[in-house]
Amino acid sequence: MSEILDANLLREDLPGMSELSEVDVVRHFTRLSTWNYHIDLGLYPLGSCTMKYNPKINERIARLQGFTLAHPYLPAADIQGALEIQKALETCLAEISGMDAVTLQPAAGAHGELTGILMIRAYHESRGHPRKKILIPDSAHGTNPASAAISGYVIETVPSNIRGTVDLGRLAASVNEDVAAIMITNPNTLGIFESDIAKISELLHSRGALVYMDGANLNAMMGITRPGDFGVDVLHINLHKTFTTPHGGGGPGAGPVAVKKMLEPFLPYPVVAKTAEGAYFFEYERPQSIGKIKAYNGHFGMHLRALCYILANGAEGLKEASEIAVLNANYIRAKLKDTYALAYESPSLHEVVFSDRLQARKDVHVWDIGKRLIDYGFHPPTVSFPLIVPGAIMIEPTETESKQELDGFIEAMLAIAREADETPETVKTAPHTTRVGRIDEAAAARRPVLRWKPE
Ligand SMILES: *Cc1c(COP(=O)(O)O)cnc(C)c1O
Repeated sequence: MSEILDANLLREDLPGMSELSEVDVVRHFTRLSTWNYHIDLGLYPLGSCTMKYNPKINERIARLQGFTLAHPYLPAADIQGALEIQKALETCLAEISGMDAVTLQPAAGAHGELTGILMIRAYHESRGHPRKKILIPDSAHGTNPASAAISGYVIETVPSNIRGTVDLGRLAASVNEDVAAIMITNPNTLGIFESDIAKISELLHSRGALVYMDGANLNAMMGITRPGDFGVDVLHINLHKTFTTPHGGGGPGAGPVAVKKMLEPFLPYPVVAKTAEGAYFFEYERPQSIGKIKAYNGHFGMHLRALCYILANGAEGLKEASEIAVLNANYIRAKLKDTYALAYESPSLHEVVFSDRLQARKDVHVWDIGKRLIDYGFHPPTVSFPLIVPGAIMIEPTETESKQELDGFIEAMLAIAREADETPETVKTAPHTTRVGRIDEAAAARRPVLRWKPE
C-alpha cells in the first residue's frame, strides 16, 4: 500500500480505529436498513410533507447512462437532450401553475422561497424602493418567515379567522406602501383552500405589493385551478412532494420557482434559452438577475424524475391524482371525525387536521398517539403543526395509497383512541416494538452524533 499511497494519507497509527470485515459491515448496514421506515414499506401520512410513492420508472429513467455520465460542464452542443429536458419541465410547470417562466435551480422548497423573495426584492428595488415588510398568515409554514427575514424583510403576521382562512379585514388594515408582498400557502397548512385568494391578490396589487404563494404542495390543485389565474406573481413548487421525486435523507430535493412575466428578468442565471437556429444554451447575460443560487442548473436527476412523472400521467392523470388525493384525505376525515376532534369545520382538501383535544382529557397527547402508531406499523402523521392548532395531528395520505392501506391506518387510529380511553399508559409509553423507545428528541436534534470518533 505504502508504495501507492503517500505516507501521510495512511491512518495506520490512528488509535482506537476498529477493524471490520466486509461481511460485518454489509450486515451492519443491511440490518439498519430493515429497522427503518420508508415509503416502499407503507403509508407515510406526514401532512404538508406529501410523502407519496416514488414510481420506479422515474428511477429507471434517471439512471440511464446518457444522463448519469453527462458532466454539467460539457459544452452546450453535447447536452442538447439534457437542456431540452430542463426546458420541457419548465414548460410543464409553467402550464400546471399558470405562470410565465420557471427556474429549476433551487435545491429545496425553502431555497425556492429565498429565491422568490430575493426576486421580489430586486423587482421593488428596480422600481426605486425595496419596501420593508412581508405579510405572512399565522397558518404559514415555518420556512416562510425564515426566508423573508433572511432576505432582509420585517415580518408581519396576519391572523386567521374562525374558518381557518386569512382574515380579510385584518389583512386590509395591514396592506400599505411598506409592504413588499404577502407570502401565502394555498391550500393553507390547515388543508383549507384560501377561498378569498383572488380578492387578496387584488388588494395587494392595488397597493403595488406582490403575491408570493408557497406552492410546495400542489397536490390538491393540479389540473383543477392554477395559482397564476388567481393573481399569484411568484411561487415555488416542491418536486419532492407533488411530483414524486424522493425526499431523500436530507438528500437532493428540488424547489423550482415560477414567476409572472414582470419578474422574469430577475430569474437566477443561467437560464436555459434557445438560439434563433433552435439550439439550447445556458444564457448568462441577464443584467437584472439575482445571480446564481445553486451549482450548475440545480439537481438534474430530480428534474428528470419529475418530468417522467408528469409525462407518464399526462394532463388528465395529474388531475385525477389531485382528485384522489382530496378524496383520500376526506375519507380519513369522515372515518375519524367522531373520534378525533376536527381542528376546523371548513372542507378539507389534500390533508386533514385534527387535534388531540378529546384524548388529552386522559393526558394522552399528540406525540403519544404518533409514537403508538409506530407499533401498529405506520409512520406517524405530522404532529404539533400547524402551530395555531393546539395538539395538531395533520394527516396527508396522498393519492398513491390503496383503500386497504387507508383502512388499516384508520383502524389503527381508532384502536389508539380506545386505548387512550381504557389503558392510557399503553399509549403514553409507546413505542413498544421498536429498537429504541422514547429517545431524547431535543438532544438528538441539538447534539447529533453523526460520526464515529476514536476513543
Ligand atoms: C415542505 C414545505 C416547505 C419547505 O420545503 P423544503 O423542501 O423542506 O425546504 C415549505 N412550505 C410548505 C407549505 C411545505 O410543505
